[in-house]
Amino acid sequence: MNNKANDSGNFPEEHIESGARIDAARRAPAHCLYCSNPADGWEHGLTEGVGGRLAAYILCRRHNGSMNAAVDQRFNANFAPLVNMLQIRRQRGTTGAEFVATDDAGKPVVILDKGFAKQQRMDVQKRDADGKILYAEGDLDHLDKLPAGALSPNGRNLVIAKISNPSANFVVGVDETITPAILKIALHFFASFVDDVPLNVATELLRTISGELAADGKIVRTPYLHADVFADSWPARHELTAYPDGDHTLVTVLLFTAYAFTVRLPVSMKGRGGVRYTQVLTENFPRFETEVPRPAALDWNDRPGIHDSAKYYAPIKERIKRIYDHGTEQAIRARCKRAYETAMTASSKYGDIWERYRMQLQLECFEAAEVRQIVGIGQRLSREGKAPWEIPVVNEEAPEPAVTRESRSGAARSRKTGPLHRPGAPRGGAPNTGGPAGL
Ligand SMILES: [Zn+2]
Repeated sequence: MNNKANDSGNFPEEHIESGARIDAARRAPAHCLYCSNPADGWEHGLTEGVGGRLAAYILCRRHNGSMNAAVDQRFNANFAPLVNMLQIRRQRGTTGAEFVATDDAGKPVVILDKGFAKQQRMDVQKRDADGKILYAEGDLDHLDKLPAGALSPNGRNLVIAKISNPSANFVVGVDETITPAILKIALHFFASFVDDVPLNVATELLRTISGELAADGKIVRTPYLHADVFADSWPARHELTAYPDGDHTLVTVLLFTAYAFTVRLPVSMKGRGGVRYTQVLTENFPRFETEVPRPAALDWNDRPGIHDSAKYYAPIKERIKRIYDHGTEQAIRARCKRAYETAMTASSKYGDIWERYRMQLQLECFEAAEVRQIVGIGQRLSREGKAPWEIPVVNEEAPEPAVTRESRSGAARSRKTGPLHRPGAPRGGAPNTGGPAGL
């Protein structure tokens, strides 16, 4: 991991080279992009909330604040499930992103930044004639604090407690509500690292960024995910590239390696070659290149409408599925780890470590067959000197990209064979690729 080298102060070579190129390219405009006030605060064109780490002084304090409120917060919230699934470590040191999903009954479920559902309050399901608790489900910590008198003496086990991991459904929307943020990202990248933008051009574009004008296909489009323009990668990355296009500039925006946009800005690169910012989502530093050649396949007139829709969505689905698989795996491992650590600290009078682990896994709501599998794999991993919770997880089905923002369908169901074929919480992840711009 590069993180380790970076944290200890030994920067990897590519960071030193990129850092020098960033310093050489970073603009220091005399005033804010949108007004005549001094530019006096760091602006992350690609937000820190999704893992962006490249910033420049291009906005005044007022416009920095209004941009955050009007554009960045919605953008970050939209992509929070992916930030969570990839456990993206952000510049301020936090990892993942808490967000609210819904369970199958439509009730809100908070997904914690560690990637598993927040423990719900205790839910008393049965009481005896005296009003004492016969059966309840809920947070073990909460049950521990119950006064002994609250429990019915007639309950079979007094209280059957389990930590609930409710299934969760959520949608990542890529539609006209996101395109103003994409325009902002492209424009701020240009203004930060390519060239100054005339004030009248920036203020006109601000009308679209702020939502006053619709972001139609004249400015932002969602092209086919062509491998020559939007190369595949794992770990996933964000990538912004500005290419000269006559008296315009084409900025390609790739988010999470899966979501591709092209933005056509009415500003010239004045003979310079392509400029690229790459943020590998497992790295603590931005990569930066200049003189990036324009790929032949980059075509502003490439629109979703000219493609067969199955062909258009196929590469997007494939790349989203990989993120989903990764998210499922880390969510299941987080629950196994939690169970194992609790088992390690439990008193030895409750059997050996594997018996206690089995019991804790049951409390994590794994099914009996899964518990047997997880313990079996854990014992093998332990013999190999590995962490017992680092189990392989395979999803057999991926969520279908939903077509509308409202859709909560597309939650994955999976069969159980092989290592551990099961989606855990957060589940569903119907990443929405619908409503492509520029049709
Ligand atoms: Zn300003």
